[in-house]
Amino acid sequence: MAQQEDVFKKIVSHCKEYGFVFPSSDIYDGLGAVYDYGQNGVELKNNIKQYWWQSMVLLHENIVGIDAAIFMHPTTWKASGHVDAFNDPLIDNRDSKKRYRADVLIEEQIAKYDDKIEKEVEKARKRFGDSFDEAKYRETSERVRETQEKRDALHERYQQVMNAPGGIDLEGMKQIILDEEIVCPISGTRNWTDVRQFNLMFKTEVGAAAEGASTIYLRPETAQGIFVNYLNVQKTGRMKLPFGIAQIGKAFRNEIVARQFIFRMREFEQMEMQFFVKPGTELEWFSKWKETRMKWHQNLGFGAENYRFHDHDKLAHYANAATDIEFRMPFGFKEVEGIHSRTNFDLSSHAKYSGKKIEYFDPETNESYTPFVIETSIGVDRMFLSIMCHSFEEQKLDNGETRTVLHLPAALAPVKLAVFPLTKKDGMPEKAQEIINELRFHFNCKYEEKDQIGKRYRRMDAIGCPYCVTVDQQTMQDDTVTLRDRDTMEQRRVKISELRGIIEDQVSITSLLKRLL
Ligand code: ATP
Repeated sequence: MAQQEDVFKKIVSHCKEYGFVFPSSDIYDGLGAVYDYGQNGVELKNNIKQYWWQSMVLLHENIVGIDAAIFMHPTTWKASGHVDAFNDPLIDNRDSKKRYRADVLIEEQIAKYDDKIEKEVEKARKRFGDSFDEAKYRETSERVRETQEKRDALHERYQQVMNAPGGIDLEGMKQIILDEEIVCPISGTRNWTDVRQFNLMFKTEVGAAAEGASTIYLRPETAQGIFVNYLNVQKTGRMKLPFGIAQIGKAFRNEIVARQFIFRMREFEQMEMQFFVKPGTELEWFSKWKETRMKWHQNLGFGAENYRFHDHDKLAHYANAATDIEFRMPFGFKEVEGIHSRTNFDLSSHAKYSGKKIEYFDPETNESYTPFVIETSIGVDRMFLSIMCHSFEEQKLDNGETRTVLHLPAALAPVKLAVFPLTKKDGMPEKAQEIINELRFHFNCKYEEKDQIGKRYRRMDAIGCPYCVTVDQQTMQDDTVTLRDRDTMEQRRVKISELRGIIEDQVSITSLLKRLL
């Protein structure tokens, strides 16, 4: 685990060093859980968004996109349930003045018991060697059994407070924290305040304060912008069920525990698609979308073993099925996307609060009803992080050197082709520019003439550029160049006129999309 944490730290500093992700307002020492994307980061991010957008809107005739405003009428958030229920339970330590999520403290305590058990099992495995019978050991070891019982009892108690009939039992949560003797990692004390509910929405005001300013929220999810536009899109686009509306945009949550770099941010970006279906068909569509979305992820070639579904046992009050797609990050399997069957909760609730009739007239059955919804919701930043984590490698080379390389899927790489003149004379720089001038209309190219060729290759490896071309003496005679592949480091001689054909197919989003069909 320590080794994995190390890798993660390296990825974070790599992101900064190579212009992918910077802390926000860096010269003022940053702002907690807010990040800026740099010159390479923005290209990678745009490519991820394009891959998603095109897979939804180009590949499905019945999915269209919108771009709704971040500010919405405040009643939207009453209707969606966010004003009343979008809360995290928080607790403060009076000595360190640090604030924690009470549920996270308890979950970490459960994880500590799990760790303790795993350590005992691993120790025994080493001690017994080949003859080790893990199941039997877990059953018979006094120490493991005791820890397991404590863990299970805590888990059971935690479930009870989380699912208490009138909402989360906040006093019960505090009692668990006291009984388990959980201490603040900073002060080391157990001097806790009571647990309080904390709404995650950021508030601001529209209009001048004196003349009836009203409180509005920064949207905590993009989905509501789709629901309130359901009628507009359905009518103007003459959409027939089933159909979907896709949207990419910023969302804001005042996360209390913001850790793990861009995994949990206060300002982030979501790619959401709400698919409207006839009531009764939603579970069939839910499983279709599960499959479609998993395929989209696996199509990037990171290996099926790095993904899994995590089906929810406990469903939100409006959902009748929900799952997460989790990806193996250096800090464990973590959610990157949620797929939810949201019933007709949102549309019905907006109909109630707005007084508008939000229904679909089904020409086949001549009846009107409120459609049901399947939602697929993925965080751009988490997707970005998963791609970075999987692509980063410190590779030991045969000559004993190490190279840092990002094995980004070529279609997502910020720069597709780097062109180097071997030296700065004999017309080579001009020739290199000529190549770029021709190819820049088709994909992102970069010119580099500084340092030895080897160093230039390393810089391109570090930003995940899949191809490098070198213009040398021979180029000046026969119009051929060396083309070097990032992953294999192999070089071959090709005609300048062939470059576009060889590279374009590999680096286009279309190449990824074609594999989805
Ligand atoms: P979590 O349980 O990790 O807080 P969530 O279940 O609240 O996530 P959803 O509301 O389902 O997340 O949002 C859909 C997606 O939006 C998530 O799968 C994730 O990729 C992304 N997302 C949610 N919150 C954040 C955040 N604070 N920072 C970055 N991405 C986020």
